[in-house]
Parts: sequence; structure tokens; C-alpha cells
Amino acid sequence: MARGILTIDLDAVTRNWTALSRMADCETAAVVKADGYGTGATHVALALARAGARSFFVALAHEGAALRQAIGAGPAIHVLSGHMAGDGAILRDHDLIPMLTGPDQVARHLATMPGHHFGVQLDTGMNRLGLKEAEWQALSSEVLAQKPVLALMHLACADEPDHPMNTRQLAVFHRMTDGLGLRRTAAATGGILLGKAYHFDMVRAGIGLFGAAPFKAGEPVVTLSLPIIQVRNVTRDEAVGYSCGWVAPGNHRIATLAAGYADGIFRSLSGKATLWAGDSPCPLIGRVSMDLITVDVTHLPEVPERLDLIGPHQTADALAAVAGTIGYEILTALGPRYERRYIGGKAGASA
Ligand SMILES: *Cc1c(COP(=O)(O)O)cnc(C)c1O
Repeated sequence: MARGILTIDLDAVTRNWTALSRMADCETAAVVKADGYGTGATHVALALARAGARSFFVALAHEGAALRQAIGAGPAIHVLSGHMAGDGAILRDHDLIPMLTGPDQVARHLATMPGHHFGVQLDTGMNRLGLKEAEWQALSSEVLAQKPVLALMHLACADEPDHPMNTRQLAVFHRMTDGLGLRRTAAATGGILLGKAYHFDMVRAGIGLFGAAPFKAGEPVVTLSLPIIQVRNVTRDEAVGYSCGWVAPGNHRIATLAAGYADGIFRSLSGKATLWAGDSPCPLIGRVSMDLITVDVTHLPEVPERLDLIGPHQTADALAAVAGTIGYEILTALGPRYERRYIGGKAGASA
């Protein structure tokens, strides 16, 4: 079989969730947007629900609908894009909680879905989503009368603990919400690590579930193993791949693997990444193409069936550093063509 195999350790996800939960004296919600950061939202959410998670966040109403179908009634599912025009039926049918993003959404929600639960996002300085302070002042009594289930803020610089923006945003959030009797959430993974002042009533763990930065103490969750579909010998001055991106300095054995930039192996990794045959590093040579990469395996006594791109020798964060990006982007780019195999979490199946 020529598909790459993405192995996701659901027990490691659960242990990461538990470790993050222990840092906070409040509810720890799980953020499973973008298909659970590329790992499979429904598998991750089911494993976490079994471990005791009661609240989830997704970005889009459609993600919430798919999650509800997988995990059933009970857990709260919050939608970070709030209540967009046309989302009413999907929010109602799947019992989703829109996290309203501004005055337009407040008006839409209260007019079209009175009585359907909702939360409100407050902008404390990131200027991405949420009601600004003046907007909140104008609308808060009307909103509070409808009993929002949650008030949410998001930190712009939580991965830099000493950044003055963190305390500035915290102060604004207190000013906007103290004494109103609201259930509050401020911290994603980075905010959990900032300490209890940022935890309020709920924290929202996303990337930390997958043991990636900023939760460096977390356990890695993902292994990516790519199949070698052909091995060939090249001699001195023969070129490999697009643009003759690599020219053999002598006799070499080149393995061609069935995965490329269409699968989330960024083209910027051309000539830079390392794959692993067990404990032996093997350099990626030449250009990453859409469906294929080429790797120098000259030094291996025996060429294996697969090489690892993400695994014990190279985490998603380490690969991100080579590509000039962050672990979040490596994980969420993991393409749909991989076979996803799940360990633990009582999920058992592959998809
Ligand atoms: C993505 C996101 C999270 C999760 O962030 P991590 O850094 O992955 O933990 C939490 N809250 C909001 C509003 C988000 O957009």
C-alpha cells in the first residue's frame, strides 16, 4: 500500500489533557477545530469525552455539526465563528453554542434565535474577534438579560510569558466582566501555562493536547511514516527531481516516497528535511513535489519499507523549525490522503 501512515496516540492526547487540567482548578475544555489539528476531531473528542471532557470548541458551525453527530448529546460544543448568517438551522439542529463575535451577531442571534444558548467573545486588544469595550458597554445589559453561558477572551501573546500584552489584556477582561456573574474563559494552551490568574472558570486546550509548543512538557502524539515506492541508483552528475534540484556527487541510492506537498510536506522543506530509518537519519534531497519526495538512502545497509518524517527523532515542532513555521501549521496541514491509525482511546479503528 502506497499511503503514508499517520499514527495518533489517543492515550497520549488524554494524558496531555489530564496534565493541563491539573494545572488549572477549573474546567478544561478541548479545542478540536481544523479536524482536531489534523489528527481527527471525532476520534480525539470521543477519547477525551471518555476521559471526562465536557466542553469542546470548533471554529465553524459545520465542524460542530459533525462533532455532535460523532459524540452525541451531552457535551457542550462551542462555535468560535459565532452565529453567521445562515447558521441558524445548523446551530439549532445540533445544539451548538455560538460564541458571538460582535454587535451584528448579537443582534442576529437575539432576534432570530431567542432562548437558544450562546456565549459572547470580548475583544481585550487582539482585534480579531469580539465586542470591543465600548460595544460591550452599550450592549451588556441587553446581552446579560439573555443569560450568556460564557464570556471568552483570547490572548495575543500567551506564548511569550513576559510580554506586557498579557497583563494588559487580563486587566481589560477584568474591567469588562468583573461583578457581572458571568462564567469566564481567557486561556488557551499558552494561557494555561501563564498561571492561575488567567484560568477563570474554564481553560481551552488546543495545541497542548498534541504535546506541541508552547506545551513543551507534553507528550508527542503523532507519528508519520511514509512508504518507499521505488529505489534507484544514480551515478555522479545525474540529477534528481524538478529543476534538477539535486545533482549526485557520486554513486548514490535514492528512495522515492509517496507523499508530497499535497499531503502537508511543505515545499520549503526541499533539500532541508531529514527522514529516519529507525535511528538512522536520511536526508531529503531535491525538490518536494506534489505526491513524491526523494531521499538519500545510500548509507543504509538495508532499505526499509517506510521512513519516518515525524516520530521519536523528530517532533512536529522540530520539523516546523526546519520549515520555518510552527507545530500548529505542520499538524493542521497533515493531508487527507494518509491512513490514520489510532492507538488507545478505545477507538481502535483506522480511517
Ligand atoms: C485556536 C483557539 C484556541 C486553542 O488554542 P491553542 O493555542 O491551540 O491551545 C483557544 N481559543 C481560541 C479562541 C482559539 O481560536
